Amino acid sequence: MAEKFQAVVIGGGPGGYVCAIRLAQLGLKTACIESRGSLGGTCLNIGCIPSKSLLNLSEEFHKVKDLSNKGIEVGQVKLNLPKMMKSKDKAVTVLTKGVEFLLKKNKVTYFKGTGSFKSKNEILIKDSENKETHVEADKIIIATGSLPVSLPGVKFDEKVIVSSTGALKLEQVPKKMVVVGGGYIGLEMGSVWSRLGTEVHVVEYLDHITPGMDKEISTEFMKILKKQKINFHLQHKVEQIKNNSINAIVSTSDKEGKKKDFDCDVVLVSVGRKPNTIGLNLDKVNIDLDKKNRIKTDKNFKTNQDNIYAIGDVIAGPMLAHKAEDEGIAVAENIAGQSGHVNYDTIPGVIYTTPEVASIGKTEEQLKELNIKYKIGKFSFMANSRAKAIDDAEGFVKILADEKTDKVLGAHLIGPHAGELIAEIGVAMEFGASSEDIARTCHAHPTFSEAVKEAALSVDKRAIHS
Ligand code: FAD
Ligand code: NAD
Repeated sequence: MAEKFQAVVIGGGPGGYVCAIRLAQLGLKTACIESRGSLGGTCLNIGCIPSKSLLNLSEEFHKVKDLSNKGIEVGQVKLNLPKMMKSKDKAVTVLTKGVEFLLKKNKVTYFKGTGSFKSKNEILIKDSENKETHVEADKIIIATGSLPVSLPGVKFDEKVIVSSTGALKLEQVPKKMVVVGGGYIGLEMGSVWSRLGTEVHVVEYLDHITPGMDKEISTEFMKILKKQKINFHLQHKVEQIKNNSINAIVSTSDKEGKKKDFDCDVVLVSVGRKPNTIGLNLDKVNIDLDKKNRIKTDKNFKTNQDNIYAIGDVIAGPMLAHKAEDEGIAVAENIAGQSGHVNYDTIPGVIYTTPEVASIGKTEEQLKELNIKYKIGKFSFMANSRAKAIDDAEGFVKILADEKTDKVLGAHLIGPHAGELIAEIGVAMEFGASSEDIARTCHAHPTFSEAVKEAALSVDKRAIHS
């Protein structure tokens, strides 16, 4: 007999596990199915967490080599890569186990295996030994996430031609790495390996990195990364990647058709991710997909089937963990009869390089396109006393506010702790604040957050420290 649940979530990533916990909190008998053998999805296992761990460790390694310039003499600094990788793996294990504990605490039944549809209300779960379990559910939430995309004819062997998954567990520091794609993954993982000693070349199809980001920030970002000795080849098309099993040759051509080959030890292909619906047997329930093979949903995350919902990377929108989590909570609340909602205008995006880059709301380019009149406030970290005190003063804060009402429409930061500073602006925007509201809020001294206050003051041309 199949066990019956009020709700079953397929996928135990940040979308799925958060959704399952919220459903259980709201009193529904809930199960969560995860095929990976460990909870937390891409984010905890092969994404956000291991990458942030390596970004931090590589940054520490890089910084310690520089300390003697600041009056701190250290002995010879040596990299122990296996130990660094162990430290990263420990962070992953602690957090994934933590999620398992949270499911238990909230009385969510956890099934280890791959879930597929038998019918609108029945799921078949196959574990790694092919043992089958059947469950029935009133409501089913698909949260199966995404997978890396490759280039036509290019196969990941995760040793020489790697996706982010391989780039997170290289056994040696490559001498030379080609990164295809100057987006989130390319720049974060490129920074990690560059700091550990690799010569990194980013090959980007467009004439700028980080598409979609405010252009001024993107330009400054590339300038700073170049100073860190990351090489950029913009408007270059990859035509072929030849895997010679111990190295690779990346053949490219620029916009004039001029060809250039890169000989390297490792190629990281980071040209985006695609929705993952493999193994779900979606045909059985006739779920509609959009042109990009994402599951189509309405604003309440409902698919074309009344009792089936989808959230996270497998549907439209930015592929970010916090977006998946918020959708997980919203869909759970909708299912429980409440009014769950996600405000897509205030989802921050952060790139965890040094310096960090963070943005929220509209970019200047978007405001121009929408014909919205705006004012700009800008403040450089060079004039922020905390940033100067610790010699970490690259970058600036940029706030965009409505010309007439002064309502904050967007903010774009590059600089120390930008990923933390953006939260203040997120709260302000959720409350419909004006730049004057931020400017009149007392900020502690000396903090990086004073740069946000000064940028808000600068919207009205009254910054004090610049
Ligand atoms: P996922 O996290 O992909 O989880 C889906 C889960 O479903 C997977 O564990 C999968 O095994 C499971 N699954 C799939 N099919 C089935 C099935 N049929 N049955 C059972 N289980 C199934 N985002 C950020 O916000 N911040 C970051 O710093 C960040 N860093 C990243 C770094 C890297 C290298 C990568 C690759 C991604 C990063 N992301 C980051 C993106 C983030 O990881 C994703 O947006 C997020 O994990 C999406 O959550 P999800 O729950 O939709 O899907
Ligand atoms: P991305 O969309 O961020 O960047 C892909 C880049 O590759 C773009 O600049 C694009 O112009 C370029 N590109 C595409 N095709 C190309 C080609 N043929 N040749 C050269 N360049 C090409 O994708 P990603 O870096 O693979 O990351 C995938 C997603 O994972 C991100 O969009 C993001 O949602 C998520 N992520 C988030 C974080 C974070 O929040 N800090 C970190 C890593 C990943």
